[in-house]
Amino acid sequence: MNVRDSERMIAELSQKEEYSLTDEVECADLILINTCSVREKPVHKLFSELGALNIKKKDGAKIGVCGCTASHLGEQIIKRAPYVNFVLGARNVSKITEVLHRDRAVEVDVDYDESQFAFSEFRSSPYKAFINISIGCDKQCTFCIVPKTRGEEISIPADLILLEVKKAVDSGAKEIFLLGQNVNNYGRRFTSNKESINFTELLRRVSSIDGLKRIRFTSPHPFHMDDEFIEEFASNDKICKSIHVPLQSGSTKILRAMKRGYTKEWFLDRIDKIRSTVKDVSISTDVIVAFPGESDDDFEQTLEVVRDASFEQMFSFKYSPRPLTEAANFSGVVDEAVAKERLKRVQEMHDEMLDKKSKAHLNRVYSVYFEELRSDGFVAGRSDNNLLVKVKGSENLLGEIVDVLITKVARLSCEGRVV
Ligand code: SF4
Repeated sequence: MNVRDSERMIAELSQKEEYSLTDEVECADLILINTCSVREKPVHKLFSELGALNIKKKDGAKIGVCGCTASHLGEQIIKRAPYVNFVLGARNVSKITEVLHRDRAVEVDVDYDESQFAFSEFRSSPYKAFINISIGCDKQCTFCIVPKTRGEEISIPADLILLEVKKAVDSGAKEIFLLGQNVNNYGRRFTSNKESINFTELLRRVSSIDGLKRIRFTSPHPFHMDDEFIEEFASNDKICKSIHVPLQSGSTKILRAMKRGYTKEWFLDRIDKIRSTVKDVSISTDVIVAFPGESDDDFEQTLEVVRDASFEQMFSFKYSPRPLTEAANFSGVVDEAVAKERLKRVQEMHDEMLDKKSKAHLNRVYSVYFEELRSDGFVAGRSDNNLLVKVKGSENLLGEIVDVLITKVARLSCEGRVV
């Protein structure tokens, strides 16, 4: 979401204010930091980064702080770092060219409706396009600050989404990435009287666009993963066979405390349904260990689900209390040493599983979309099921989807040759 928000701000600034990008901080007239607030560490990093940028920047250059930490801290950022020229929340990126001209501007309204806003174009990759299908989140997961920083969930009208997809495909993108906090809750609320369709129908309409080869999306919510959606995911050839299914915990007791809306059994049932209907699917997940009240038994259940679901990728973290969230006031805080140990155990177990699973890729042929030319003579891309694959080659491969025979495997990537 932040990558896409950055692209939107870059597009607005370059087309309306004639800015262009530079990698040299010392040359910049404007320095933007697009922030995350899901965990505590990036918030601390923001202020040390701001101090360093203030020393490096040229005279008269402006600094703007954008994104979720901007939404959450608002004016406090300028109080703590008075050289910051403006603060722009994650729900207000369309106002970038406005706040630019108002010194000490703070725009952090989480109710602001950007769902009808037509942004100008900028893409960080010529090969794929990130396209928002909804903004905000209506869930109230007790550990999560996102509903407070991105506001309530509003779906972007399907005709605007289809228009953006067509524009991206016409300009050369073969792959699009549909984005939202809960993509499969799409269609629940629009701000205008638009035709209401669900996510499965949106996928069908997007896939009918000529020239589009691949569709990816993130993140679906396990609660909304109905059979109709899984069957479309399985049968629609344009939809890449990789899916993120965020577990968070394997204990139904902890899932309830997190207000996730599903049980351990429902989660495993959805994984079974996906694995049994989608050949060669790759499933990734998120896991939080040491949520307040997590007992040894709760944690063992998380290990059990991670083992049973056999995820191809896992993003795991120790619980980090966030301001404005319910869980920040929960009792039953897990001892730091125990939390560290649990994180180590789940990661080691998953790494071992991956080492075994990755061997199965050897001598298989995957269809790979090449997007990156590396300095070591390799070209890298992703298979349909999201495997990172590299082959020896030149820029001729960039933007091409070709079959690759896998000749070498590692835990997170493979090497092969074009066949
Ligand atoms: S679904 Fe839960 S975890 Fe995801 S953004 Fe919404 S509140 Fe946060």
